[in-house]
Amino acid sequence: MVAEEKFKVLPSKLHSHVYCPRITVFETIFKPSLKQRIRMILGRIYHVFFEILKLRGYRREELLEIELGGNIVLRGRPDGYLEKEDEISVVEVKSYRAPKWGDAWDSDKAQILAYGLILHKLKGKNIVLKIRYIDREVEVPFNTENVSWLFEVIEDYKRTVQSSWIKDVRRGVKCSKCPFKELCDLIDSLS
Ligand code: SF4
Repeated sequence: MVAEEKFKVLPSKLHSHVYCPRITVFETIFKPSLKQRIRMILGRIYHVFFEILKLRGYRREELLEIELGGNIVLRGRPDGYLEKEDEISVVEVKSYRAPKWGDAWDSDKAQILAYGLILHKLKGKNIVLKIRYIDREVEVPFNTENVSWLFEVIEDYKRTVQSSWIKDVRRGVKCSKCPFKELCDLIDSLS
């Protein structure tokens, strides 16, 4: 009997999914173009050289991975973390501002909660999550409420990938730089 392939979930994909679930569908259907791949690589290089270097004293790690129920594997590499005797501080660096109101952007929350969950399951320690925006640092509580929300996001992400369901979403500023803008304009003009 052939074992069922695990469903892989990357925290960065959860980030995109919370930002806009349509991106999940489009990225599943269309492979990125050469231009998009170059842009992603340049973005990654920028991130590593100009942002990660700020995390002196924090540890970087190879890919970390845990298994969740439902044949799901959660796999990711946090920007940095600091491990103490009974606590792990995870930090995620962002090259944009925090929201004017509230704490962190939901997409960033999903991503860092996923790193927190991976480290919590692997090391069994308390987790402190911090997002470093360019204007301030925000702490995201690693508590039952937030972890339950994370599981809902993971389930919704899985459902969306498997069904390729293009949801109705609120269009706005977030669409201005999105590579799928023309496609969404077309879809919305037909509906
Ligand atoms: S254009 Fe807007 S609605 Fe469409 S995928 Fe991009 S962010 Fe989502």
